[in-house]
Amino acid sequence: MNYDRIVIRYGELSTKGRNRKFFIRHLKDNIRNALKPYRKIQIQGFHDRMYLLLNGEDSEAIIKTLKNIFGIQSFSLAVRVPKEIETIQHVGFQLVEKLYEEGKTFKVSARRSDKTFEYDSNELNRLVGGYIFNKIDELKVDVKHPDIELLVDVRSEGVYLSTETIKGAGGLPVGTSGKAMLMLSGGIDSPVAGYLTMKRGVKVEAVHFHSPPFTSPRAKQKALDLAAKISAYSGSVKVYIVPFTKIQETIHKEIPEGYSMTVQRRIMLKITDLIRKQNSGLAIVTGESLGQVASQTLESMVAINDVTSTPIIRPVVSMDKLEIIDIAQKIDTYEISSLPYEDCCTIFTPPSPKTRPKLTLAQYYESQVDFTALIEEAMKEIETVYVTPDYTPTQEDFCDLL
Ligand code: ATP
Ligand code: MG
Repeated sequence: MNYDRIVIRYGELSTKGRNRKFFIRHLKDNIRNALKPYRKIQIQGFHDRMYLLLNGEDSEAIIKTLKNIFGIQSFSLAVRVPKEIETIQHVGFQLVEKLYEEGKTFKVSARRSDKTFEYDSNELNRLVGGYIFNKIDELKVDVKHPDIELLVDVRSEGVYLSTETIKGAGGLPVGTSGKAMLMLSGGIDSPVAGYLTMKRGVKVEAVHFHSPPFTSPRAKQKALDLAAKISAYSGSVKVYIVPFTKIQETIHKEIPEGYSMTVQRRIMLKITDLIRKQNSGLAIVTGESLGQVASQTLESMVAINDVTSTPIIRPVVSMDKLEIIDIAQKIDTYEISSLPYEDCCTIFTPPSPKTRPKLTLAQYYESQVDFTALIEEAMKEIETVYVTPDYTPTQEDFCDLL
């Protein structure tokens, strides 16, 4: 007997009342999108669970993909059988037998949502458990910590049998909470911030500033590779690459050294906000973490944040570096982030940036230089790239790398 479907259980959406349909529709679309290569799959969405009919597709690869989809609490490979006790017993036995090795313990956990079925859950546990117990010599029952747990779920359309519950990614389906622009550097923190924002249902687009020839094409490639990694959680990520060289040179020349970093961040935020507006985003996400580096004090935040009233989401603001690294490792961005290529901010970093810049001074120095034309020019020259989890550099990118 082979599993013919996957049962998907929702997480928090079950508490979303009238929005439930909206959440389920999004989740279904996201799953369909992520499983596009598996053409034979059919998805059935119901108010309390979803079924993926495998129709012969590779369940292992599908399970791997499902683990990355937000809005799924847990899922199980399952088989549906008719509501006849003999069939339930027999197929249940086959499933347990497949997993059985000497010394393993088991338990049957039955649930009867269809109250018209002739046996209640206790009777089912006994009938199915007893049958299997008699068929496999030396099989022991352990109701507290069984090695094998056979779930028997009786519903009106049939009985679902499964033996393993796989933990899902949790969170909310991406797209149900609107869209935000992630300021994506090549560092450790911003990809983690992007991932955590996606987890709460936000569709994320990335903005990356680069300053050729001061930053190498590899630095840009690094940002694209990081975007590709986090796109595993949303299907794809649109990346805006903003040429920042002229602005950085101007800042370097015209702004007193102690304030160049603050002004640079202010302009990056201004440009990100313009991109957000043009593309109907609702918020901006950064990887800022308090106290980590000079630019990340509250005073600095005040001086930078001043350029916009758009909500800024800082998912890692209160995390320790090690906590952030833990997540980076889990989502597989850590290694890429640790590559040594300079990013545009480090290159012009003065030896001693002000750790407690004054807002009024930042505003004053900035007002002494006309950045309008430079910002307009940068906006015009933005390059847009769509990356997906299987993104590999194009021929052109490769040439860049050589
Ligand atoms: P990260 O690890 O994300 O690079 P960081 O600890 O190095 O962060 P900073 O360099 O101060 O911190 O950057 C703070 C935030 O500013 C980053 O998390 C990111 O959101 C944004 N940022 C920095 N550099 C860039 C860049 N080149 N392009 C886009 N956003 C950037
Ligand atoms: Mg950085």
